[in-house]
Amino acid sequence: MISLKFSKLDVESYRPGQSSIKNIKKTIKLSANESALGVSKKVKRILSKKTINFYKYPDSSSKELRKHISKKFKCNKDRIICGAGSDEIILLLCQLFLKSNDHVVVPQYSFLMYRIYSKLVGAKVIYAKEKDLKASVSEIIKKVTKKTKIVFLANPNNPTGTYLNKFEILELRKRLKKNILLVIDDAYAEYMKNVDYKSGLDLFKNSQNIFILRTFSKIYGLASLRIGWGYGPKKIIDALYLIKPPFNVNTVAQLAASEALKDKNFLINSVRHNIVYANKIKNFLAKYKIFSNEVSANFLLLNFSKSKINAKLFYKKLKKKGIILRSMETSYKIKNTLRLTIGSKKENLKFMSIAKNILK
Ligand code: PMP
Repeated sequence: MISLKFSKLDVESYRPGQSSIKNIKKTIKLSANESALGVSKKVKRILSKKTINFYKYPDSSSKELRKHISKKFKCNKDRIICGAGSDEIILLLCQLFLKSNDHVVVPQYSFLMYRIYSKLVGAKVIYAKEKDLKASVSEIIKKVTKKTKIVFLANPNNPTGTYLNKFEILELRKRLKKNILLVIDDAYAEYMKNVDYKSGLDLFKNSQNIFILRTFSKIYGLASLRIGWGYGPKKIIDALYLIKPPFNVNTVAQLAASEALKDKNFLINSVRHNIVYANKIKNFLAKYKIFSNEVSANFLLLNFSKSKINAKLFYKKLKKKGIILRSMETSYKIKNTLRLTIGSKKENLKFMSIAKNILK
C-alpha cells in the first residue's frame, strides 16, 4: 500500500449557508448574507453585450478595476489588491504575515475564515471575550502577547451584527502596539447608516499598520463571481502581489465589479430596502420575544433565549416550508441563535407569514 504523507490540520472547515432542501423545489435562502436585490441592471447589461475573450487570461493585476475603485473611494490605486473574494486576501495576509506559533487575536464570535486561515499556516488563534456579543477593545488588548502579529476585526461583524463605533476603532488602533497589523473587514460597510459608524477605509486611508478588506459579494451582488479587494500600505500590497496566484480574478468578475461601482441608484435602493425590511422583521419577531441586534448590516442575529420556541425548532419548521436560515450554534457556538439574511420583498413577506403561523 502506498502511504502519502500530508499535514494533519486541526481546522474545522467552513460550512457555507445551505442553499437547497431535499424534495422542495423552490426554496428561500436567507442563510448567506447575499444581496436582496440581486445585481444591478447595468452589470447584467454589460455582461450580455460585451464580447469577452474567454480564451485569454485575465489581467493579473486587475488594473482597470483598481482604477475604478480608486476613483470611487478616493484612494490610492497602488495600495489596492484584488482577490477571488476578500476571502482570498485573508488567506494571502495569513501566508504573508504568519509563521508557526505566531499569535492572531480575534473577537470570540468573529467571522470564521480568520481563524481557519490563521490555523492553516500554523499560527495560534487567541479569542478575545465579547460583551453582549460585541467585540471589546480592552479584551482584545488583554490578549495581545509578544507573539501577536495580526488582529482581525469585521466591522460590523458577521454573524453578531454588532460593531465598534468610530471612537472605539480609533482607540483600538491607539492601544495596539504599532508593529501589530490591524485588519478591518468592511464587508458590510455600505449598508451602515448608523451615525456613530465609520468604515475602516474612511478612517484609515493613509495608515501604515492597518489593512482594509472589501467585497463585491454583499451589496453589489457578485458573490458567485468571487471578487473582493484589500487596501493597505504599499509595501504590504507589493509583497502580496509576489505571493498571489497570477490570474486570481477572472475577466468577468473584473468587468462586472467595475460596472457595479457606477450604479449609485442600485446601492441607494439596496440600503433603503435593507433598513426598511430589517426593521420590519426585527419588530415583527420582537412581538414573539425573539430579539436581535440593532439594525446594521443585511442580516439579523436572532436570539431565542426569551421566546417560547427555541432556535433549533424554529429552524426545522421553517425548513419544512422551504425557508433556510443559518444556525449559529455549531460553527460559531452562539447558543440558541439563528442568523437571518434580509431577502427580497417577496421573500421577507413570505418569511413573516410562515413565521407567524409557526409562532402563534
Ligand atoms: N468577511 C466577512 C465579514 C464576511 O461575512 C464574508 C462573507 N460571508 C467575507 C468576508 C467573505 O466574502 P467574499 O465573498 O468576498 O470572500
